[in-house]
Amino acid sequence: MFRSRIPSIFALLIVLFASVLYRTVLRAQDRGPEKLPADPRIAAALTQVSAQRIQANIEKLVSFQTRLTLSAQDPESIKAGHGIGAAREWIKSEFERYSQECGGCLAVKTDSFTESPADRIPQPTVITNVYAVLKGTDPESAKRIVLVTGHYDSRNSDTFDASGVAPGANDDASGTAVSLECARVLSKLKFPATIIFLTVAGEEQGLNGSHHFAKMAKDQNWDIEAALNNDIVGGNRNPQQDPSVVRVFSEGVPVAATEAELRLIRNLGGESDSASRQVARYIAEIAWTYDAGVKPLLVFRLDRYLRGGDHSSFNQQGYPAVRFTEFREDYNHQHQNVRTENGIEYGDSLKFVNFDYVANVARLNAATLASLASAPAAPVKVRLQTKELENDSTLTWEASPGASAYEVLWRGTSSPEWEHAQAVGNVTHATLPLSKDNVIFGVRALDQQGHRSLVVVPQPQR
Ligand SMILES: [Zn+2]
Repeated sequence: MFRSRIPSIFALLIVLFASVLYRTVLRAQDRGPEKLPADPRIAAALTQVSAQRIQANIEKLVSFQTRLTLSAQDPESIKAGHGIGAAREWIKSEFERYSQECGGCLAVKTDSFTESPADRIPQPTVITNVYAVLKGTDPESAKRIVLVTGHYDSRNSDTFDASGVAPGANDDASGTAVSLECARVLSKLKFPATIIFLTVAGEEQGLNGSHHFAKMAKDQNWDIEAALNNDIVGGNRNPQQDPSVVRVFSEGVPVAATEAELRLIRNLGGESDSASRQVARYIAEIAWTYDAGVKPLLVFRLDRYLRGGDHSSFNQQGYPAVRFTEFREDYNHQHQNVRTENGIEYGDSLKFVNFDYVANVARLNAATLASLASAPAAPVKVRLQTKELENDSTLTWEASPGASAYEVLWRGTSSPEWEHAQAVGNVTHATLPLSKDNVIFGVRALDQQGHRSLVVVPQPQR
């Protein structure tokens, strides 16, 4: 008996040791670079995000019965609180209320246009995006914009049913509520760069609202560093849901890449280093720095199969953009008439939304927006010297306004997230004893308080 017990204790110890080692290694791989210092001001703001407020806002949006883009927007319907016009006016008044609370810090605006008839638009239709601008406090940095968006239009089984009930509690009152709650909480703070809180319409008819907005931004030369699209972030209450996770989709090869850029991507293995993917990695790092209550699962593809979203409108104009979506969707609760059939409940109803989950997603968005809006501009003209055959790597870049230091990051070419970050001081060049052939490099800027910019991957310079 003794003889058999001793080896079994050894075996147990070995298994325990192996499992601790395995978990440590796995964690290190999961984590990427060091946990960054949190900004206490941002951490405090995150505690202000309220699941109750979010619930009240989603309930209000559902109360308009339908928010189909083709639904009513005449003055009587708006007064009666019915249809997309009423939803639009309410969102506007809500942004205005937040602005009053911060001494008029938000500029509340609409981007309204008439869409010509198309596939899902039977007659010319007025589409209105509603947004609030928290202008940056630093004149130079204020030109830089970070943006959060959700679509406030909804639909049921029939994309043309302008009067039937279409609660759209999850798709996408949840994303609209994220934009609103980020506006309410972050408008109490000041940031050097500008934050835009956007809600768009026309998503279900063909991404019309976001297309118009992103094109307007491009035509006016706006410098949008990141667009965060929240669409279906309600954390649908189904048994297979994982409320600890939110998916973050990002494009790989940019849809707006030029022929010359595509050639570089092909030659250098740049398929996973679009600016949108740097935004996704930034979000992952933010989730390590701040406790949002939800972790991002980075999905390295533009969107889910058979589906699209407003982030792609920004990508098309060359802007970095990602999509947040709950871990597991329930298709019985999307784009469905509210009904019960064979004991199955269909429809995008309030009761399936997990408001605590939406609040957590709002926290992750708010932390990302606040960090980017606090950070210096990302370095520009980042170059990797390739004149000589050598085993060291030299990077150069131009100084970023507001930066007091820089970090060089790198990872293995087959690794999804940054693995190493090295402080190099307040310089505009660095040489590392690493072969550029074996890793992917990036550079980012830091300010005095440690706010990090987005990472920029260098272009080769001969
Ligand atoms: Zn949607």
